[in-house]
Amino acid sequence: MEKSTKVVHGGRPKNVTGAPLNFPIGVSTTYIAGGTSIYSRFGTEVTRALEEVIAELEGGETLSFASGLAAVKAVVDSFAKAVGRPLDVAIVEGAYNGTRMQLNGAMGLIVRSISTITASTPDIFCDELSSLQEFDLVWLETPTNPLMSVLPIDRVVSIAKAKGAFVVVDNTFATPFATNPLEFGADVVIHSATKFFGGHSDVLGGTASFADPAVAKEVDLYRRLNGSILGDFEAFLILRGIRTLSLRVRAACENALAIVELLGEYLDQEMIYHPSLLVGKPGYEFLPRQMLLYGSMLSFDLGSSPFRAERFCERLHLAKNSTSLGAVETQVERREKQELGISPGLIRVSVGIEAQRDLVEDFNQALELL
Ligand code: PLP
Repeated sequence: MEKSTKVVHGGRPKNVTGAPLNFPIGVSTTYIAGGTSIYSRFGTEVTRALEEVIAELEGGETLSFASGLAAVKAVVDSFAKAVGRPLDVAIVEGAYNGTRMQLNGAMGLIVRSISTITASTPDIFCDELSSLQEFDLVWLETPTNPLMSVLPIDRVVSIAKAKGAFVVVDNTFATPFATNPLEFGADVVIHSATKFFGGHSDVLGGTASFADPAVAKEVDLYRRLNGSILGDFEAFLILRGIRTLSLRVRAACENALAIVELLGEYLDQEMIYHPSLLVGKPGYEFLPRQMLLYGSMLSFDLGSSPFRAERFCERLHLAKNSTSLGAVETQVERREKQELGISPGLIRVSVGIEAQRDLVEDFNQALELL
């Protein structure tokens, strides 16, 4: 079955006379002993249904969490426990700030060293990673945030494996409709389900999918003890969002290509950041194989003055100036981070599923006014 069918038909109750089509949201924390449900902190019918669908999409046993960052924490802590000491971590430049803060010790001493690896091209990234003496864990996000660098998961995995390191890929930006990191040899795939899976800016959640069921079991034990499982109502909302994931992702990716084309009428190509613009460049031969869709996240740079970027965001009528991504509505956000070399004029866009003509018109009038 194709993924667009799996999202519709996965995680349903048995197809028998009188059965509901959706698992009801549970209101019991405990169950009569002897069945598959024991206590809701260990999992329920609804969380298991959601995990089953994502397992089918990503190709590995899946656990759901109360947020993306709860999934990050569970995976890193469990791995540090398995290694038996704080970790040496290599993290991609442009990884989500909350993940970076966790790894930097904001949540305890799970990491003893953290090396940020430059993401400007695949070769630079791989050379820098290869030259690191020791690391236990590679934390990869591809495309990166906000400059949309795409990095070759299979090459990163072979460098990591040669050093005995574990590879985690945060696949939130790409979605499983574009990329399946486990197929390229990653050990774990993380999603902030708050983004594309939920898709409506109304629910927090996270997932982790594992190549090795034994690792999933360890992380499941962590989740039981840490109490960080997703709630039933949230699991229901995310599962409902996932039913339309295929349609939403495709529409948003098409809209993103139209916005990239429009931006090309106003800006030099070097000021526009979208994976589609990397196709055919030297070093990116892997890209069409790794990304089946080029995604709906893009950025562009209006120059060194923050005021132009601010004015642009104010002048948009449809797109919402708000943080987060992956929702039905288009969102823009200024991403100035001078310490990371990110220009004051940089605007990140999470393209939504509005009618393409309306969206292009909205961006066009804001660009024209500048
Ligand atoms: N990973 C990425 C790429 C994100 O953008 C975010 C949040 O913005 C997270 C993880 C954290 O997810 P959550 O906000 O669901 O905890």
